[in-house]
Amino acid sequence: MKSFLKILFFLIFIIVLLGIYFKFQCSALALDLVYPKKNNMSVNAKSTYLIGNIGSNKYLKINGTEVKTYKGGAFVYVAALDFGENNFEISSIGDNGKETKVLYVIKRPPKNKSVLGKNKDDSDSKIELFNDFICARVTKDGSPLRLKADVNSNRVAHLLKDTSLFLDASMGDYYRVYIDKNTKYWIKKNYFAEDSHVSEPLKYRIRDFKYSKDKEYEYFAFHLGEVLPYVIRETESGLDIKIFYVENIPVGLQEVASNLNLSNNVLSFSLPYEKLWGYDFVYKNSKMILKVRQPIKADTHYPLKNIVVALDPGHGGVESGAVGPTRIKESDIVLDIAQKVKKILIKEGAKPFLTRNSDKTMDLYDRVQLIKKRNALFSISIHANALPDGNNPYEKYGTSVYYYYPEAKEFADILKRRIINNIKTRDDGTNYASYVLTRVSSSLSVLVEVAYMINPEDYEKLTDENFRQDIAQGIVDGMKEYMNSSIPK
Ligand SMILES: [Zn+2]
Repeated sequence: MKSFLKILFFLIFIIVLLGIYFKFQCSALALDLVYPKKNNMSVNAKSTYLIGNIGSNKYLKINGTEVKTYKGGAFVYVAALDFGENNFEISSIGDNGKETKVLYVIKRPPKNKSVLGKNKDDSDSKIELFNDFICARVTKDGSPLRLKADVNSNRVAHLLKDTSLFLDASMGDYYRVYIDKNTKYWIKKNYFAEDSHVSEPLKYRIRDFKYSKDKEYEYFAFHLGEVLPYVIRETESGLDIKIFYVENIPVGLQEVASNLNLSNNVLSFSLPYEKLWGYDFVYKNSKMILKVRQPIKADTHYPLKNIVVALDPGHGGVESGAVGPTRIKESDIVLDIAQKVKKILIKEGAKPFLTRNSDKTMDLYDRVQLIKKRNALFSISIHANALPDGNNPYEKYGTSVYYYYPEAKEFADILKRRIINNIKTRDDGTNYASYVLTRVSSSLSVLVEVAYMINPEDYEKLTDENFRQDIAQGIVDGMKEYMNSSIPK
C-alpha cells in the first residue's frame, strides 16, 4: 500500500513539473496581450487597441492580415469596433514553425438612447435654500471653490485649511458659498466641518497690514486672526487679489497696491509684476500672508546655480501608469528620466530633488506638499502618455507639456521646444490642463508627457537608455533657456 502511495505521489509530482514546464513554454513563446486586460471585455467606443508582444515569434497576424511588429515583438493594433461582439484572431509563428493562435472577443454595447437625453443627475438635484447661514470651516488645504455645483466646472480658488465660509444653500453633493448678493460659489460637502448658524455672514477686521521682503520673497501680511476665502487672478500686469468677508481697508496697503477697493465686504487690490515666479497664500501666526517670489537674476555662466527644482516622476508602486507592449511600466521609465535630470542638474549647480526616489505609491497631494515645503522654483511632473479607447496612437503621439497658471505657460513652451529639439518627436502641443501637479502656483509648475507608451515608435525609443538621457538633457536645456531669458540684457 505504502509503495503504491509513493508511486502515486511521484506521478503527481511529475505531472505538476510537466505542467509548469509547458506553462513556461507557452508563456515564453505565446502571445502576450497587455491590453485589453481580459477576454470578453466591454468597450464603449468606436475603436480600441490590441497592445502586446509576440516575444521572439514571427509574423503577427490579426484576422488574417499581417501586422507590423517592433523591438521585442511589440505591436499596437487599432481595432475598429462594431456594435455587439467583435472577434479578433491573433496568431504568430514560433522558431519551431508552430503557430500560436488566440481568439479574443471585445464587446461594444449597443447605443444607449438615454445618453442622448439630459443628464439625469443634474435634473435630480434641486437647490435647497437655508433659513439662515451655516458658518463652516474647510478641513483640507487646497479645497476647490467652484463656479457651479459640478466637479467639471471651473475652479475659482483653492482654499486654505480652516477657511471660514458662510453657506446659504445646498444642492446634491455641494454647498453654496455666499460671498455677497451677486457672488455665489460652490464647494463640495466633504471638505467641511460645520460650526454654527448665524443670521448673516460675519465680517472680519484686518487688525493690521505689514509688507516685508527677504532675499527670496515679498510678503503681504494681513493680521486677521481668521482664515478667509480669497481669489487670486493673474493679469497682463501682475496679480488681482480679492479677500472675502472683510470689514476694512488696512493702513499701509495703498502704499504697495493699486486699484484698492472695498465693497460688499470684498477687499480687492492689484499688485504690479512684469513676470511672475510663483506666489501663494499661507496662514501663519494669525496672519494671512501672500508670498510672491522676487524676480530672479540668474548667474550668466551658471543660470541654474542654486535653483531648487522639484522633479516628480509620475505614478509608482501599485499605480504603474501606462504599460507598454512589452510590459515596461510608465512609472519605471519616468523615474529613470527624473534621476537622469537630477544628475545633470547637480552638475549645473542646481538643487534638485525627487518627489519619489523608488517604485513606491505616493499620493498626489503629498507630492504637492513636498514641492511647497522645499520652495521649488520649477516643478516638473514627468509622464509618458497614453490615449483612451476611440483614439488613434498612429495619429496622436509625440511630446506635450501642460500648465495651469499663466505664469508657467512660457516655461512650458520653452521646455517642450527644447525636449523636441533633442529627441525629434512630434510636437503634441503646449496645453492648458487642470491637474493636481500643474495647480501649484508657488512654483512654475508643468507636467511633461515625454512621448507615448502606446505609439510603438515612441515606445521603442522610450525603452532606449540614450533616448531617455536626451530627454533629460532637453528638460535641463529648457530650464536653462528660461533662466537665461530672464537675465537683463
Ligand atoms: Zn502618467
